[in-house]
Amino acid sequence: MTLINPIERFGSRLISVQNPSTYTGGEIGSIVKPHAVNDTLFNTAIAFPDTYTIGMSNQAIKIIYQGLNKKKDIRCERVFCPEKDFEQLLTQTDTPLYTLETGMPLKNLDMLCFSIGYELGITGALSILENGKIPLLKKDRRDDDPIIFAGGVGATNPAPFSVFFDAVFIGEAEGGMFELFEKLALMKKQGASKKEILEELARCPNVWTEDMSVEKCGHAKAFRAVYEGFDSDEPIESFLPLPNIKTVQNHGVVEIMRGCPNGCRFCHAGIYYRPQRARSKKTIFEYVDKLVNQAGYKEISLTSLSSADYPDIGGLLRELNNKYRAKNISFQLPSLKVNSFTLPLLEELSEVRKSGLTFAVETPDEAWQLRLNKEVYAQHLVDLINEAKKKGWNKAKFYFMVGLPFPETEEKTEEKVIVDFMLDLQKRTGIVCHVNVGTFIPKPHTPYQWVRQISPEESDRKLRYIRDNLPKGRFKVGTHDVSTSYIEALCSRGDKRSGMVIYNAFKKGVRLDAWEDHLRADLPLWEEAFSEAGYDVKAEILRERSKDEKLPWDDVSLGPSKSFYLKEWEKNEKELLTPVCKPGCDHRCGVCSNKVSVNTDKISQEVYKSEQLTGLNELNEPSGSYDRRSEMNIPLIWRAVFRFTKTNGGQFISHLSSIEMFNRAIQKSGLPVIYTAGFNPLPRLEFSSTLSLGTVSLDEIASVVMYEGCDEKSFIEKLNKELPSFIQINHAFIFPVTNQRRRESLSACLWGNEYEYTFNDGISDVKGFFETEEGKKFTDKSSLCSFELKGNVLKCVLEFHKDRPFRNALEEYYGKKIFEIVSIKKIHTLAKPDIMGWTPELNKEYAQKIKSEGLDGANRIVKAKVLQPEQNTASEQYTDYFELYNRIALVNAALIKQRDEM
Ligand code: SF4
Repeated sequence: MTLINPIERFGSRLISVQNPSTYTGGEIGSIVKPHAVNDTLFNTAIAFPDTYTIGMSNQAIKIIYQGLNKKKDIRCERVFCPEKDFEQLLTQTDTPLYTLETGMPLKNLDMLCFSIGYELGITGALSILENGKIPLLKKDRRDDDPIIFAGGVGATNPAPFSVFFDAVFIGEAEGGMFELFEKLALMKKQGASKKEILEELARCPNVWTEDMSVEKCGHAKAFRAVYEGFDSDEPIESFLPLPNIKTVQNHGVVEIMRGCPNGCRFCHAGIYYRPQRARSKKTIFEYVDKLVNQAGYKEISLTSLSSADYPDIGGLLRELNNKYRAKNISFQLPSLKVNSFTLPLLEELSEVRKSGLTFAVETPDEAWQLRLNKEVYAQHLVDLINEAKKKGWNKAKFYFMVGLPFPETEEKTEEKVIVDFMLDLQKRTGIVCHVNVGTFIPKPHTPYQWVRQISPEESDRKLRYIRDNLPKGRFKVGTHDVSTSYIEALCSRGDKRSGMVIYNAFKKGVRLDAWEDHLRADLPLWEEAFSEAGYDVKAEILRERSKDEKLPWDDVSLGPSKSFYLKEWEKNEKELLTPVCKPGCDHRCGVCSNKVSVNTDKISQEVYKSEQLTGLNELNEPSGSYDRRSEMNIPLIWRAVFRFTKTNGGQFISHLSSIEMFNRAIQKSGLPVIYTAGFNPLPRLEFSSTLSLGTVSLDEIASVVMYEGCDEKSFIEKLNKELPSFIQINHAFIFPVTNQRRRESLSACLWGNEYEYTFNDGISDVKGFFETEEGKKFTDKSSLCSFELKGNVLKCVLEFHKDRPFRNALEEYYGKKIFEIVSIKKIHTLAKPDIMGWTPELNKEYAQKIKSEGLDGANRIVKAKVLQPEQNTASEQYTDYFELYNRIALVNAALIKQRDEM
């Protein structure tokens, strides 16, 4: 297999795309299993059908990645959907889409696995296949094409995807998928063919294939795999790899519970993740420790479908706050059921930081809530919001749906009850309300699977009423595009015919339609595909299903039986509640068994066995007491100035992402770094300049301040261990400074840079440029720049504010973008020789004074080479940063001595 190295393959052209580092891999925690000659590993990739920034926020991807890579015979790498600009680069360079870890072309894999978290992800999946040069349709693929496998909560009706996917895993990956793949890997090792591997796959009871039958595979229905060890196993470290750039959800995630006890009748996820299983507090604490100390997260989400239903959620939050307060770690609960949300819980949430308040109401009408099997007491909501206001919240989000199967009358419509409820609530609380309303899609495998979906026109009328009747200022109303739910329904409720409609729409150009703006733009293409389908697609999507017709998803079971869904539907009609799930429940749906069941009774006991919290912070001081990491009242602080390189892909990491990497590395390193004050404390970190994207650098300068000194070798080692391999520190200088004077900022000391410009093949000699009027401006003596040309390499020294004009002038001269002209490497960051009026004479005087009087605690500085000024190689214009800071260190040392003697 010929591996693709994107850095070599695309070179500086990578900066022509947005977020180039999302195509280069190399993240901390990525797993690279080197390829060997005669390698027999089962080559797989986990593909997320959306872009890197969304995919790397997804937990399922990382769980599968970690779980499969634990198996010694499996190599699992990652691939995400490319954006349009990168698609163009792939096409221009005739490069097939590849995996991030070792650059395996997708076409050469044994198996490509899609995690379909939402149905509209299918357009992203097709994009991945097409860019991987793999035929989209199953029937067109050959023996040497990979097996195309899928799974996830968005693929529980595999019928619309049956023309694309060879097989679909139903259920939780930890419930048997890793062992299944291990078996397949062994088969590959023993020389099995693709056909034999596919047959083995089809025999797994959790796997759906298009032509399943008892005779052929031993089962005619695929059953959902349930992870039995959720509450007993050590959780998979799904925080790794750490993304190269800021992702959509840029915080640590600990899954505190799986499943939800509430049984809302419209909720597909509520069925998919049954039964409710909570993790013990001890497990949660251990995992949070890893998120803080190994991943460097400062914001952590305690996730589940309904986190407020975790047993003793208030106690858990309180203990976490107590333990991590001193490290400024904050905790969020992303989804809260209104009636499980209590005032004490609000108290805990307000402890560290104000995250948003979100309430999923769906419908405010109490009779209709009984139909949904959901209770939202209006008075409770008002009490919560009034209390939240006292604690500093000034806005809250509310989620509603229209199109639910309710018996509306002219006086009582969904939209009217939503508007009346919100006007009343706002009047009683005075809070600014963000109201979000979506259109209900009757999902497969729920008690509402048979009902009709409202048309886009009906939906539009309802949403317009809500927008028009909630006054701006007090309300901000967000509504989904009515047509998006239409296409989503095609992918979630459709039958096998939908597959070819999706295929045709893709061929017409629809891309990444899980994004509402893409979908809106692509609607005419979808309409064309509908009109060419040969059946009335719209009518089929919207129609009510009869209770005795065979549904396209009937060959999949998520656990509950059809009779359970029917019973629940009848209770809906009678406005009857079904009690919440609990151990030994009396309304069995068919999911709990002696192997796996609701465990809240066990967990609630374990809560009190969790680790004894001492109330001490990491410095062995009472938590919440004086934090030494704040700069206040520290008479002597230490400054570390350091040099780092950005190479081997580091040039494609933006400056902001580099800062984020350093922030995390500092937190993980345990170095005694001082943090800023406020709700979001950050290390006191400074950079001399911002490196342009695409520029390799051998000499970037940065500094941090610390409340204790440490030796330079261990400073470098500790940080390098936590930084990615493409950003590494190679030199540090640490010296004491007094807090009684301003520090010389690195950027104020910046003079300019020395570069190597290597001209690309086919670019004519740069001499011609220097003969133009524009070129002469740079070689003119007064410009302070200098150039030396050897072959196609131009060495240049430029004042920092000439960087951009010089590149612009080259672009103008050659009529091309800079990345098409040269590859740029920074050799040196140059400092001003003198700052703040410190003449070389004054420096010398300080140096001699210190030398003659001696200086306790500054021996190391005395040894510094700056004390031999005759060796100072600085030119008239600029000097080396470390030369300059050696002198600054001397001045600080003198001032400290002076102060100590007073
Ligand atoms: S068997 Fe009962 S407790 Fe278990 S998931 Fe079903 S309804 Fe809930």
